[in-house]
Amino acid sequence: MEFERPHLVSASFDDVIGKRILANRRNWLLAAPIANPAMVTMFDHALDPRPGSPYLWWSGEFVGKYLISAVQDLRMSRDRQLESAVADVVQGLTRHQGTDGYLGPFEGDDRLFGDNWDVWGHYHCVLGLYEWFRYRRDARALDACRRAADHLSTRLSSPGMIEKLRHPAMNLAFSHVAALLHQETGESRYLNLVRLFERAWASVPLGGDYVEKFQTPGSLFAALGPAARWERLHSLQAVGELFRITGEERYRRAFTNAWQGIRAFDRHSTGGFSAIELATGNPFDPRPIETCATVAWMALTVDMLRLTGSCEPADELELSTWNASLGSQSPDGRWWTYNTPMGGIPTTGMGVMSLPPPLNRVPAFEGTRRPSPHDLGFQGRTGAEYLSCCAANGPRALGMLSEWAVMAAADGIVVNFYGPSRFTLLTPTGNQVTIEQRTRYPVQGRVELVVTPARDEAFTVRLRVPSWSTTTTVAVNGASRPGVVPGSYHTVERTWRAGDTVVLELDMRARALIGADPPPGCDPHSGKGAKGRLALYRGPILLAYDERYDRFDVQNLPPMAATSQLTLDESVPAPQDMRMVRVRAQTDAGEVSLGDFASAGMPGTVPGGPDVEGRVFQFGRNDGSVIAQRIRLLADGTIQGHTHPNEASWRRDNDALAFFTSEGRASTRFVWDARENGLIVLRGRFEFDERVVHELREVDLDVEGKWFQFTRADGAIITSLLRLRAGGSIEGHSHPNERSWAQQDGTLVFCDGDGRVTTRFTQTRSQFGRVDHSGPFLPDAGVTHQLRQLDRGVTGKVWQFHRPHTFPIGILLHADGTIESDHPNETFWTMEGDHLVFLDPNRRPTTRFALEKDSDGRMTWKGKFLPDPAITHRLVEWNIDLTWGENSRYISWLPSTATMPRTLLP
Ligand SMILES: [Zn+2]
Repeated sequence: MEFERPHLVSASFDDVIGKRILANRRNWLLAAPIANPAMVTMFDHALDPRPGSPYLWWSGEFVGKYLISAVQDLRMSRDRQLESAVADVVQGLTRHQGTDGYLGPFEGDDRLFGDNWDVWGHYHCVLGLYEWFRYRRDARALDACRRAADHLSTRLSSPGMIEKLRHPAMNLAFSHVAALLHQETGESRYLNLVRLFERAWASVPLGGDYVEKFQTPGSLFAALGPAARWERLHSLQAVGELFRITGEERYRRAFTNAWQGIRAFDRHSTGGFSAIELATGNPFDPRPIETCATVAWMALTVDMLRLTGSCEPADELELSTWNASLGSQSPDGRWWTYNTPMGGIPTTGMGVMSLPPPLNRVPAFEGTRRPSPHDLGFQGRTGAEYLSCCAANGPRALGMLSEWAVMAAADGIVVNFYGPSRFTLLTPTGNQVTIEQRTRYPVQGRVELVVTPARDEAFTVRLRVPSWSTTTTVAVNGASRPGVVPGSYHTVERTWRAGDTVVLELDMRARALIGADPPPGCDPHSGKGAKGRLALYRGPILLAYDERYDRFDVQNLPPMAATSQLTLDESVPAPQDMRMVRVRAQTDAGEVSLGDFASAGMPGTVPGGPDVEGRVFQFGRNDGSVIAQRIRLLADGTIQGHTHPNEASWRRDNDALAFFTSEGRASTRFVWDARENGLIVLRGRFEFDERVVHELREVDLDVEGKWFQFTRADGAIITSLLRLRAGGSIEGHSHPNERSWAQQDGTLVFCDGDGRVTTRFTQTRSQFGRVDHSGPFLPDAGVTHQLRQLDRGVTGKVWQFHRPHTFPIGILLHADGTIESDHPNETFWTMEGDHLVFLDPNRRPTTRFALEKDSDGRMTWKGKFLPDPAITHRLVEWNIDLTWGENSRYISWLPSTATMPRTLLP
């Protein structure tokens, strides 16, 4: 039996998943195009310079990943505001498509055949546009897909051309969407395009040769070695589609073998996939589990479920959703991790990982959660500051619920997801049926489903009976049913009438997965396995120990005894406790408190957005122009310091700060909330002109003790570094016109030796949390003076390190004088006067930097590379904290004294 995506009318979720989907919509899907306009404008080849450049190999993918995830949400929510935002993105993207069909950001020889992932970018753009077409039947989107595919056909079909594509692990993934286009249109040219890629899998070095290599079972690592990168899963999706198109068994065999190989050897205890972006053949590999890779695994698993109609992939999707996915998303929806580690696997003897800084370190024993911009800071660009592969991709993990939570079968419907929710979908005859789930699952095992068809109708309902639920009961309208088998679908065939009720009782007894040695044949660098440790599950929930909720350090957690008892903790949680499941476990040293993996190590969140009342903001646009220099949002809803009928008042509207017109219409909703150097930045689209994005930047007007560059408006530097000292003196600057500084009626002034004001800094401008002041030099009306605030702090932020001929990398300067970088020339740092100096391991200086402020307002250290003064090095600050709060350490592989012969705990 094959399953299909449901004909979904709507889907809504309560409790944790519902809150997370809502947070994803409000704080990412609605906000991301506003906060990252370069997502679309990087495709506008008429712009010079284009925002978002210089490009990453995969820059073209961001908008595609965004569209895929946004349409997934729309299928469930039908949210009109999001629909209009997505329509804008689709329109922007298609407007920039070349007349030849080209749909990427690159130019000239870099197009398609350059040293980049341009065709991979096309894959995501075309898939995103295709999903939009399927949702809205927007013919222009399908036309854009066809033109892009036709362009690739034209460019790649001549003999020898497809072999010229670089990076086949990524670029050959276009095969997947080409197969979908063929099935959509029935046109042979798209099947020919799939065949072209299929031949390249076999003929190109490192093409993958998927169909041949997976005729026999085994791990991806055994088949592909260190080339087993996660991106290949999207080519494997094409193998599955080739089976659907041709019915040829060899495709089915290759697809299912590859899926089973990942399931057995590379799917981690969290439901996450990959280690340092690869399949390494070791499910206990403690190295980073990339969010993108888990998303690709889930997409492949949805296809496995469609193809086989078997329960196992649905169990996998449940595991990945509740653990790896929710554990990768911040609860406020603003960011996703790059790495969502299991935590608790010993890493002794493991070497430094071959990943870009700051990830090029020895793998950690303990788990922590960090926003992807911290680990992937090197992917940020002007106009796309918050984008990275994982930030754009993570939302798909939630969006895929629209594809698998309920599904369509030829004779009825399939229920895979359990949890408080309500689905309305179509039966095979096209009538609506609503399934409402009343349950506290996954805290409790009882699930009540109320089935309400639009009219009495005979069809089957397949209920997933999870493989872990050893004893399950099913009752329909109170009558219990025989033949309920774990790891299968229980099929109920009847004429359904409104109010029919199905009750499942799932077996929530805890069970343990026992850690073991690494499987034979795995990557020899993947660690020594997890022997002596165990992973505990309760239902679909992986349990974890988080330091913030109990007294033990993660290094010294007492072992779980063989006779461990687990008790569900239903006491009232402490206010700061954000766990959805709490359990008390017995150890030899007494009880310890465990919770769900997804909340482990997660920073707290600020519900309802930042506290803005009474703060001073600069009100402007995201092109840098200032509308009002200083406004204050007063408690009575008025806006002080700005008078305009479009912004007559403010209040909170659905969690977001909004401005209202004098007639009471919302004029701007500030849906994007971030921090820059600790100060609030809010962004929102102006409702009356979609091209305008408004910004509110918190302004810190306290100047005492701060460093500034003193210039003229023409850019001429008067003093490169001065400090305004307490008491009015000016350190680092000596001139009769500027003997002292003062504040007069809230305005900064400079005075001469007689106390006469010489410069009045009447204008302020805030960028990255720092304030520049400018104003007239009173003795000469033709001169305007500027004080540009500088920040000499180098620790506690991610720096982009620019060297010639290579991508900038993210590096960290630690307070102890060490540098996290990728080269020994950058081992230590020190300050020499006003200069920042990098040192090699022998503490010889390698680069001496001076501080500047670039045209974007970022702190920039620029210096000559001392061994070769022709080379200039540049450090650019990249300090986006995304309301990232306190972190804590956790482990999910718990120590155990027992070899644990039994897998069920009472
Ligand atoms: Zn990623």
